Amino acid sequence: MSNKVLIIGAGGVGRVVAYKCAQHRDVFGDIMLASRTKKKCDAIASAIYQDCGGRKIKTARLDADQVEQTVALIKKFQPDLVINVALPYQDLPIMDACLETGVNYMDTANYEPKEVAKFEYSWQWAYQERYANKGIMALLGCGFDPGVTSVYTAYAKKHYFDELHELDIVDANAGSHGKAFATNFNPEINIREVTQRGKYWENGQWVETEPHEIWKDIDYPEIGPKRSYLIYHEELESLVKNFPTLKRARFWMTFSEQYLTHLRVIQNIGMAGIEPIRYKGVDIVPLQFLKAVLPKPEELGENYTGFTSIGNRIKGMKDGKERTYYVWNNCSHVDAYKETGTQAVSYTTGVPAMIGARMILTGKWSGKGVFNVEQLDPDPFMERLMLDGLPWHEKHNIDLGM
Ligand code: NDP
Repeated sequence: MSNKVLIIGAGGVGRVVAYKCAQHRDVFGDIMLASRTKKKCDAIASAIYQDCGGRKIKTARLDADQVEQTVALIKKFQPDLVINVALPYQDLPIMDACLETGVNYMDTANYEPKEVAKFEYSWQWAYQERYANKGIMALLGCGFDPGVTSVYTAYAKKHYFDELHELDIVDANAGSHGKAFATNFNPEINIREVTQRGKYWENGQWVETEPHEIWKDIDYPEIGPKRSYLIYHEELESLVKNFPTLKRARFWMTFSEQYLTHLRVIQNIGMAGIEPIRYKGVDIVPLQFLKAVLPKPEELGENYTGFTSIGNRIKGMKDGKERTYYVWNNCSHVDAYKETGTQAVSYTTGVPAMIGARMILTGKWSGKGVFNVEQLDPDPFMERLMLDGLPWHEKHNIDLGM
């Protein structure tokens, strides 16, 4: 099989996707990595050449905001699939380019307009008919969360429940990178996400909270109790739609006191702002300037220790009886760095992106139109997680502690 993939975005996640695809020559015959800054693509390509037995990947410069540039690159390289791991802002222009050229599309984060800190699936779901008519597939949100957490939910429903009633996605980063403040993925996207109001699903409607208003000390396997805050996360939107029996769906993420204190200061002094301000004759977006001075997520890996732990805690009914289920993965920052030169947050996003690409290219996942990951068969994906570096564990009928 000699499939061609075009990976767009040469950040932490793009690095992992490129590494993991390069490791599987049988599925990913020809790989091109394209991004705004070509020298980042070239650095990744030469690291892969060294670490993956002389495997060569192609590189290109691309501004994916410009649909015609992506169309031209697709026409030249002729990929079977475009893996978008640039920023959420590029989702729609890249989807447009795939539509124009008739090539399958996938990403790991839903579209967000630059000028409003707001993310939702509506913009991308609106492509359903056009993708279906063109006979191509768009796979949305195939990282860890969304992505693996969506597959975990589908797997639980398929094998263990007649009805899902309560879903808690619990996401801990119990790692330490030794910096006073840094974000684990793109700082601009990360800070926009964690400073917004909290939101969860209960009894058929969304309930809003102040940012970080609700918290709980959640016990994570092999890590112990960590303070976890209820935040809104994008997979909740598609999960409550695709599993309509859910009475409650929440997302929890750990933040250290130190991280939250820095975040409060950043907000209080206006550095989280996304409106441009005029400084010495130049328009500057404070959050983008902040990104330029913060540690780069892709450079945190070297001294990062500890684990991430992300999983789903589910309550529901099977054969008329209530049951519970917990499925999770713990990922080591040190091991992620040894294998791909980056930390576990990028690793846990890039590996599922590669697996999703494998599912499409091997025909295990197929369809015409726009799909969220939980709409597809979870079994082959769960099998690959075991083989590709993100093994999962499960427990049945335990006290979920939620
Ligand atoms: P980074 O900021 O490290 O990397 C983004 C890359 O995209 C950079 O190389 C950047 O180029 C490139 N890029 C930005 N704009 C353009 C453009 N117009 N054209 C071409 N390339 C562009 O981000 P991450 O690698 O941390 O994250 C990548 C994606 O993964 C994000 O969408 C993020 O939201 C998502 N994500 C998903 C998770 C999940 O579990 N589902 C978890 C973590 C992240 P340059 O280097 O020039 O700036």
